[in-house]
Amino acid sequence: MAYDYDLFVIGGGSGGVRAARIAAQHGARVAIAEDDKVGGTCVIRGCVPKKLFVHAAHFADELEDSIGFGWTTKGVAFDWPTLRDNVTADTDWLSGIYIRNLERAGAELIRSRAVLEDDHTLRLTAEGRTVTARYILVATGGRPAIDATIHGFEHGIVSDDVFHLERLPKRMVIVGGGYIALEFAAIFNAFAVETTVVHRGPDILRGFDADVRKAVHAALQHRGIEVTCDTTVARIDRNENGLAIAMSGGEVLDADQILFAIGRTPNIDGLGLEKAGVAVGADGGIAVDVYSRTSVETIYAIGDVTNRLQLTPIAIREGEAVADALFAGRRTPVDHTNVPTAVFTQPEVGTVGLTEEAAKAAHDAVDIYRASFKPLHHRVAGREERMMLKLVVDGATDRVLGFHGVGDGTAEMAQLVAVALKMGATKADFDETVALHPTQSEELVTMRTPVERYRAPMALPEPAPAE
Ligand code: FAD
Ligand code: NDP
Repeated sequence: MAYDYDLFVIGGGSGGVRAARIAAQHGARVAIAEDDKVGGTCVIRGCVPKKLFVHAAHFADELEDSIGFGWTTKGVAFDWPTLRDNVTADTDWLSGIYIRNLERAGAELIRSRAVLEDDHTLRLTAEGRTVTARYILVATGGRPAIDATIHGFEHGIVSDDVFHLERLPKRMVIVGGGYIALEFAAIFNAFAVETTVVHRGPDILRGFDADVRKAVHAALQHRGIEVTCDTTVARIDRNENGLAIAMSGGEVLDADQILFAIGRTPNIDGLGLEKAGVAVGADGGIAVDVYSRTSVETIYAIGDVTNRLQLTPIAIREGEAVADALFAGRRTPVDHTNVPTAVFTQPEVGTVGLTEEAAKAAHDAVDIYRASFKPLHHRVAGREERMMLKLVVDGATDRVLGFHGVGDGTAEMAQLVAVALKMGATKADFDETVALHPTQSEELVTMRTPVERYRAPMALPEPAPAE
């Protein structure tokens, strides 16, 4: 049967655009549907504008610190609309680059929502027509989760809205203890917004190394962000002073805005998955195998909609892998281990590999190396914050299993340590590497004595059966 296209991609975000471009470069006839701005979450309402806000937030530290270095900063002021509009202009520019790259590769961009009709057919809702494709790739991403069970939840905003705020609130409550909650808490705090984080669990950043969680919690608190754990929002009411947010413990927080940052939900509603026979996993993401193939042979899914690792480079890798497998005969699963990641708080977190807790659960011998110190810069700046760098090492093989850092530059460090981990570097390799002085990362190659040598308790032999 002749199809209109070899590949039809639904969703022009990080993963979809990469898959479309690579497939077209391999010679496939490709179309990609996007019903919003091209570039998706990362470019339009995620990583890129967020990181630009992070850069803006850093100036607050730099101005404060510069005084110790002899600068005078009187009269310096921050203007939110300038930042917001310059950032939007930048993301619009980037979206244009994405469009041009698709055109250059020969992929056809269709500005419409696309939904599945069956295993080869799609309906373009804006154009009221159907098209067919030999293969379909679902790359529809996710959207901010909301908790509609909370009375007054509609008074809340989500991360998408932050990029368009008319004015900065005076008092902001942020619900959640993950990436988005903490990154925006640090950003708003730097812009002098009175910021409170409320988290349902016993501590923030679940899944991160315990030393990282402790260090970030303490640092945010020290910077004036109120971080309250083991609490949930019971109801939200609007009154003449703003919002009254009643917490599960009975306390009422007064705020001008409440931001929900409680995870992201895969975009599968109304997509026609049932019609096409595509199975959804228990976590709400499209179920796929290691090659990103769904339960239907001709339909693939990548990125956030599959709810594996919700990170841009992962969506990109998965998209490229599908294009290579279908149109270049290269079938390789995407490796989801040792993925470096960062939380762009102030101070930032950089991490890759196993946490101390995960390493101890998986290995009988684990050595922990940790350095906590005040960076050179902070001494003259008069900044109290300390930096934490940590290596988790397999005590039996000497292989480095994980890196965890809190402090300026640790995101950049995590990217490079990830290369070493992929290559199977040992602690001896780190020790043999000459330090680069004076830097903060030199501590990574000068930590000689473990702060802990963990050895799993020996299993006792089964008692001999009684005669
Ligand atoms: P998306 O980029 O979400 O793209 C999906 C696209 O599909 C969207 O453009 C959507 O409009 C479109 N679409 C949906 N349904 C349809 C349909 N039926 N028809 C046509 N089009 C459709 N990750 C990092 O690695 N680093 C970071 O620093 C980082 N920061 C983040 C900050 C924030 C505030 C957020 C929200 C996310 C952040 N992420 C970060 C996560 C990252 O943005 C996502 O993992 C990534 O964008 C996922 O890419 P994707 O291609 O799967 O989906
Ligand atoms: P996260 O999964 O990081 O955090 C969600 C937080 O919300 C957790 O603390 C979770 O608590 C809490 N939570 C979940 N449900 C509820 C609820 N019903 N009520 C109250 N609290 C709740 O998600 P984010 O929204 O912060 O970000 C989504 C994803 O986007 C991230 O996981 C990450 O993959 C990606 N991202 C990456 C960034 C980066 O690379 N720098 C930056 C921003 C986003 P608990 O821990 O108890 O589950």
